[in-house]
Amino acid sequence: MKVELCPQCGSGKISRTTPLGDIIKCDGCGWAGKESSVMVTRVDATSLEVALAVAQRFLVALTAEASLPVGRAMFHAGLIQRDTDSTFVGRLVKAAIVAAHRATLEEVDKIQKEITDGDNKS
Ligand SMILES: [Zn+2]
Repeated sequence: MKVELCPQCGSGKISRTTPLGDIIKCDGCGWAGKESSVMVTRVDATSLEVALAVAQRFLVALTAEASLPVGRAMFHAGLIQRDTDSTFVGRLVKAAIVAAHRATLEEVDKIQKEITDGDNKS
């Protein structure tokens, strides 16, 4: 089963807002964007709810645990300065965390696919 997830919050509650269906909107966080931005993952129907819950818990934990070290890393790398507007800092930290969340889920998907493909070959 193919499942589409919001790239910003990991929610499965997304819908197509235009007749052509090329703009997707998330009911969870209000994100809207192109269909190509949506995360697509494959899960079996029974584990769908579990997978969504884990993905959302991971995003919450990542935000809570990583915001400070990510901001510090940006400061040490020179990406932000002490006087950088806190709105911009917040946006950059959020972008880094959302990207890490997305990359991790995509890697999980890849690993699961490799395991499934490996099982099919044997
Ligand atoms: Zn969302």
